[in-house]
Amino acid sequence: MKYIFDFDDVLFNNTAQFKKHMFSTLAEAGVEEHEARAYYLEVREKEFSLKNFINILFDRNGINKSEINEVYKKIMTECSKFVNTSLIDKVKKIGKENCYIITNGEQEFNSDKIKYSSIGDLFKEIYIVPGSKKEIVEKICAQNKNEKVIFIDDKQKFIEDIDLAKCPNLKTVLFPLESF
Ligand SMILES: [Mg+2]
Repeated sequence: MKYIFDFDDVLFNNTAQFKKHMFSTLAEAGVEEHEARAYYLEVREKEFSLKNFINILFDRNGINKSEINEVYKKIMTECSKFVNTSLIDKVKKIGKENCYIITNGEQEFNSDKIKYSSIGDLFKEIYIVPGSKKEIVEKICAQNKNEKVIFIDDKQKFIEDIDLAKCPNLKTVLFPLESF
């Protein structure tokens, strides 16, 4: 059996933990939380780049740009504290050969989130896609057509998007509501 995991709010506690830490680190650097949250709502649906986000907020607040990388690092180095440890225990039991990540978003920020969370080595393949996940899910299903493939995501839109006729061996799981 193969397992495809989403990253944000499945393997990684993005909303409950990481974002809180991101906004409080920005507040320490001089960007008020209400301002950062309001701007986040404007840009989050696009390919979110944390570096660009900090850059623009620093600009608006007249904060020295030489601190961008330092603040970025301060946010990212905490990532390993925000992994979903009970799910990671499951991944370890399932085994690297059977586990994949498909996450959606901007390349650098998402690849850094996975890198700093220190869980990348537990997965056979990691994909960061700007849009739909369907092509990669279909590819993994086709490559493993004699096995069941479980696709776990917290967003209905990524699940609905899959063409089930092309993936007869696929089971989709809406996390955390459904178990697998
Ligand atoms: Mg997600």
